[in-house]
Amino acid sequence: MVTKMKYVAHSCNTKTGDISQTYSDPHTCPKSCPFKCHGCYGENFTTRRHWVQSNCTSKTLADMMESKGHTKVLRHNVAGDMCIHDTDELDGELIRDLSRAYKGVKAYTYTHASKSAENFQLIHKAAENGFVINMSCETLSQVMECRENHVPAVLAVYEWTQKDKAARRIDGITYRLCPASHDKNMTCRDCGKCWKKGRKEVIVFPVHGTNKKKTRAFLMDF
Ligand code: SF4
Repeated sequence: MVTKMKYVAHSCNTKTGDISQTYSDPHTCPKSCPFKCHGCYGENFTTRRHWVQSNCTSKTLADMMESKGHTKVLRHNVAGDMCIHDTDELDGELIRDLSRAYKGVKAYTYTHASKSAENFQLIHKAAENGFVINMSCETLSQVMECRENHVPAVLAVYEWTQKDKAARRIDGITYRLCPASHDKNMTCRDCGKCWKKGRKEVIVFPVHGTNKKKTRAFLMDF
């Protein structure tokens, strides 16, 4: 399956820093992602403008990176995911193409695919090839499933309630607030937590922005 993508050699995003980035066709998003039409930041005007454009495919990404150049760290999918259309299952062929394109690059991303054995396996395989895929969670039981399957997890919450702390520990798991959410000078390029191989800590992202209220029904205060 060929996936339409947009490749940006040098981003001007203040949160990620000036690293290379991609966007993938909205059809790659999992069928049951709770953010779909309920606060997905990819649906914001500015992000959506990039999201629906494409300048390469999953098959031509490697050539595009070679001709345009790339940074040492790359954020895959500012918007989009890696699922087979209209399912919650990761697309193995797509992940293989991406892993090949990202050889020698510290590439990382997030997925809302289901917490299935097949998906965990594909994430492990990608990690062996140096491509770090974080599983996005909304509940502590989803985090636990990821932990039991040795897959890095991130947790979206409505509010981070421990205002005086940047981390908390529950049931042997450390939950760490994304540093960029409370330090304006921090970028993903400099932080590196999401692209660190074998990370055990769970990174917590409090939602923000104009669509925040749309997530109230499915995100907890934490
Ligand atoms: S934890 Fe670090 S790498 Fe991950 S999103 Fe936050 S700033 Fe970026």
